[in-house]
Amino acid sequence: MADLNLIFNRRPILITGPCTYESKNQFTAVASQLPNLNINFIRGGAYKPRTSPESFQGYGLDGLKAMYKIAKRFKLYLVSEIMDSESLKLAHPYVDVIQVGSRNMSSFGLLKKIGKLTSKSQKPILLKRGFSSTLKELISASKYIEKEGNNNIIFCLRGIRTFEQIDSSFRNTPDLASIIELKEMTKYPVIFDPSHSAGNSRYVIPISRAALTIGSDGLIIECHPKPSKAKSDNNQQLTIAQLKDLLNSINY
Ligand code: PEP
Ligand code: MN
Repeated sequence: MADLNLIFNRRPILITGPCTYESKNQFTAVASQLPNLNINFIRGGAYKPRTSPESFQGYGLDGLKAMYKIAKRFKLYLVSEIMDSESLKLAHPYVDVIQVGSRNMSSFGLLKKIGKLTSKSQKPILLKRGFSSTLKELISASKYIEKEGNNNIIFCLRGIRTFEQIDSSFRNTPDLASIIELKEMTKYPVIFDPSHSAGNSRYVIPISRAALTIGSDGLIIECHPKPSKAKSDNNQQLTIAQLKDLLNSINY
């Protein structure tokens, strides 16, 4: 497999895959396409921070192990969220890039534990902006990881809550202009998540193009073999055909 740090030096950094791991077939359907598309990173959730406890919560460690196995079969690096300190020890060997989700950006205990556990390996940490956090708070959160010894961090902007959510059909307000500011504030890469920013697959291509034009170092995009059947975020995931359209539209 190509060296992880070398891949992270390429632009744009592209990460794609389903919101949540649902089955071997579902995950393999996406994974098998990525080597041909020159994409090295697959995303997928096993521990899901769902707004309602009644919603599908993901398959936890079993799901993570299954994803990791499929990712390695296709020589892909796996990006996945770890939500709490209890899961961290058992889960982290099966994740190549640890995602800290928007809701956990300010879970400082978790950030410290992640930083400490990965200080030797320097495993990359994808730190997503809290949807109600300022950029300064995002930078401060990253220092909790740094201070414990890991300075291999990638920031991810993923949309924020504004009064537009009262009457716009966007799930969040895409914080596109923040790309400029955050890049001036940090030496770390800044990538953009058009899927959670928009909440609707039909906005994903234009927002992705805008993010790269503004200077984003990459994109993390949700993609599912059958979005309408997805167990989470079914509105915003691209089909594989739409993902190919996106790649064409950014000349990837
Ligand atoms: C996700 O990437 O699936 C996710 C839940 O993102 P966020 O933490 O940005 O809501
Ligand atoms: Mn999602």
